[in-house]
Amino acid sequence: MSSLLKGIAASNGIAIAKAYRLVEPDLSFEKRTIENVDEEVSRFHKAVETSKSELEAIKDKAREDLGEDKAAIFEAHLLVLSDPELLSPIEDKVKTEKVNAEFALKETADMFIMMFEQMDNEYMKERAADIRDVTKRVLAHLLGVQVSNPSMVTEEVIIIAEDLTPSDTAQLNRQYVKGFTTDIGGRTSHSAIMARSMEIPAVVGTKTVTSTINNGDLIIVDGLNGEIHINPTEEVLDQYKQMALDYEKQKAEWAKLVNEKTVSKDGKHVELAANIGTPQDLEGVINNGGEGVGLYRTEFLYMGRDELPSEEEQFNSYKAVLQGMGDKPVVVRTLDIGGDKELPYLNLPKEMNPFLGYRAIRLCLDEQSIFRTQLRALLRASSFGNLKIMFPMISNLTEFREAKAILEEEKQKLQNEGTSVSEHIEIGIMVEIPSTAVLADVFAKEVDFFSIGTNDLIQYTMAADRMNEKVSYLYQPYNPAILRLVKMVIDAAHKEGKWAGMCGEMAGDEIAIPILLGLGLDEFSMSATSILKARSQIRLLDQKQMESLAQEVLQLDTNESVIETVKKYTNM
Ligand code: PEP
Ligand code: MG
Repeated sequence: MSSLLKGIAASNGIAIAKAYRLVEPDLSFEKRTIENVDEEVSRFHKAVETSKSELEAIKDKAREDLGEDKAAIFEAHLLVLSDPELLSPIEDKVKTEKVNAEFALKETADMFIMMFEQMDNEYMKERAADIRDVTKRVLAHLLGVQVSNPSMVTEEVIIIAEDLTPSDTAQLNRQYVKGFTTDIGGRTSHSAIMARSMEIPAVVGTKTVTSTINNGDLIIVDGLNGEIHINPTEEVLDQYKQMALDYEKQKAEWAKLVNEKTVSKDGKHVELAANIGTPQDLEGVINNGGEGVGLYRTEFLYMGRDELPSEEEQFNSYKAVLQGMGDKPVVVRTLDIGGDKELPYLNLPKEMNPFLGYRAIRLCLDEQSIFRTQLRALLRASSFGNLKIMFPMISNLTEFREAKAILEEEKQKLQNEGTSVSEHIEIGIMVEIPSTAVLADVFAKEVDFFSIGTNDLIQYTMAADRMNEKVSYLYQPYNPAILRLVKMVIDAAHKEGKWAGMCGEMAGDEIAIPILLGLGLDEFSMSATSILKARSQIRLLDQKQMESLAQEVLQLDTNESVIETVKKYTNM
């Protein structure tokens, strides 16, 4: 039967394909007494063998599609499955205690996991993670439950998941994954942001996709309106095929602006830059006419792997981006880990409020060797292009001064070593914490630029978790409280002769753009795929008129009244 679910439109476009559920399997079981222990041991062996051949296949595919370092993860899993120190105690337990293989496996594995996790040794902690993964796989085979594995799909699919972490998203195979939809998440969750840069239509925060959709159901992801159609009728299917065609036509229209400057109807130029996560995203920036990179989220370099990236590896990535952009500006943000972006190999303790915790610049100022390695890589790369460095999550001036002092120290060291470093690197901050927005006039005397991170600024100002679909109604970009903070930041920058940009998702939002243009924002940085649409919108707007609009909306009372006023003003 056909049905419809509503969610949050997270990435534009229409995708139609079969459902592929990426959900945690139910691996619960009962402890049982076994009569025929030989049969039970051989059942265990069979599950181990099946797991091994499955892992061999995954490893080969990972090597082909994702490279040697990803394949190494599965190689480590295979080693665990050949280790007699793990396998023999399980068999012994089945034989001597006459218990089922599931129970013997879980008890033994849990003992090893606990032992390794307590060791003060990174390598052993990683082995604990390997054992946990492998146990899950063998247990699934013993129980006859399927473990999903998106890297093995060989046909076009729509991924159905409770949630996707940014590193899950990074590993999606763009060739086969046509769209995704999740139970939880908001428009500014990092998986949603990545879906936009990968041009994969997505709808998040549906609350119920995993409990409603079965493997193989035909799914339409309507990333324009935030709708999911399950097993649609022929009529709905035809309607969506037409919508997909219309959207392609619209994109072809926007594409004509790829080499144009972004100028308002009355001649005011603003810069439209792109947010990227990896050097591979550069192609999208160029194809979409980006006038710079306004935010390079370097944390993706650190994710989906087992150890920190070396200085050399980072240097190569930064250099590639700088060279790829020629003389256009590239704003690189230093490591912003934490919140929904985790690095399991750092083994940071779980926190009650990760978005308010030990993250970003707080972690970097504490774990200075991580920070210094990144700064050195950046400084070395600086002579290959137009680099600007930006610190994330700055909440007070002391943090900025400390970060800048460390940067200066590393620069001095490199120069003493005879390495050339550009003398023209601007140093700025993300304004994404209300205390910094309020104190922008003071910051403006010391920083070279601001980039307003509305994704976080909105969640901290409204006290509404950006990931939580239950409070998404409070996540209000156009609330006059947010608009007034944005104005304070832009005015403070201009008063000191500095520039102000915005790299939160609001910068590419069609309701926000007229207001931001009116407030005098200098640089708008957004998902590359939003650039041409924004350019076509700005070309039709009169900047002077938008100044009046901005004045008017700053005096309004609610998010909704701002939306209404912008629509009226701009004939939307
Ligand atoms: C922001 O907070 O607006 C931002 C751009 O950073 P991130 O989305 O990576 O937190
Ligand atoms: Mg942020």
